Amino acid sequence: MAVVGRFAPSPTGRMHAGNIYAALLSWLIVRSQKGSIVLRIEDLDRERSRPAYANQIMRDFESLGLTWDRGPFFQHNRDEVYRAALERLSSQARVYPCFCTRADLRAASAPHVGERFVYAGTCRNISPDEAERRSKLHSPSWRICVPDKTYRVNDMIQGTFGQNLATECGDFVLRRADGSFAYQLAVVADDFEQGVTCVVRGCDLLSSTPQQRYLQDLLGFERPSYAHIPLLADSSGRRLSKRNRDASFDELIGRYRTPEGIIGHIAHIAGILKTDEPASPDEVLALFDLDRWRQQLGKRHGLAQLEWCEDPVWKAATATGRSKPTEG
Ligand code: GLU
Repeated sequence: MAVVGRFAPSPTGRMHAGNIYAALLSWLIVRSQKGSIVLRIEDLDRERSRPAYANQIMRDFESLGLTWDRGPFFQHNRDEVYRAALERLSSQARVYPCFCTRADLRAASAPHVGERFVYAGTCRNISPDEAERRSKLHSPSWRICVPDKTYRVNDMIQGTFGQNLATECGDFVLRRADGSFAYQLAVVADDFEQGVTCVVRGCDLLSSTPQQRYLQDLLGFERPSYAHIPLLADSSGRRLSKRNRDASFDELIGRYRTPEGIIGHIAHIAGILKTDEPASPDEVLALFDLDRWRQQLGKRHGLAQLEWCEDPVWKAATATGRSKPTEG
């Protein structure tokens, strides 16, 4: 079966090294299986998403040589698809209105597993009359009942990961009180409709995968394969982020001068290239082998995180606003 992967950036800021690394790895894992790539702009979060960022992300991918074959598809105009999926889910499992406020959720959030919030099921037994009365006061979000069952993923990088949805997740939201559809629903509907067979993304999303499996099973969708890659983090272990303006594209171009300089550096940090030298994605692809990469990661860094190495001279110069040093 032909492999189809995807880039699924959220247009909430300029890309940083972590986003480029995730896109490069998706590209390598999919292209090394002779697969094609779909570009999906994940702009469900209407407050934080900006068309200008979406355009910039596409230009940045193009300049880096991270090519795609279909799209861009935008989530903001796919409400009909999500609504249809929600209806089908409602016919397969119980989907109910939830009136909990943030404060209610915090107060009722006693059973935590690790960092994870487990919904206590507070609104599960509200009668239809009561739900109607409350809906007139404020609109509810919509949650799906989860079974007391463990959903497992056989991840290409992280190995087997399982989660009991009732005890480790709880009933989760499919549609928010403001009417927008939730990530878990949108991603499952989109991956299916866009024919995605191979999902490569950061391992912070591994714990969402059992929820996605559950929805795929209810909807009768084919299950894609998954590769959850280690996150790129700074030396203190903090994940790189757009909010913290970490290693943004502009900064990287200033430091590594060319798109190949950026790709070569990231491929080196990821342990794919032995030396830190400019390279195109095609050149990296010629040296990439998923099994070998996974084994190396396990030995050298562990499978959860990779360290983003800043050049200390460059870092000091940009922090004090001095003119930027040149390489060499
Ligand atoms: N849009 C998400 C991100 O930019 C990725 C979601 C996914 O890959 O499922 O982190």
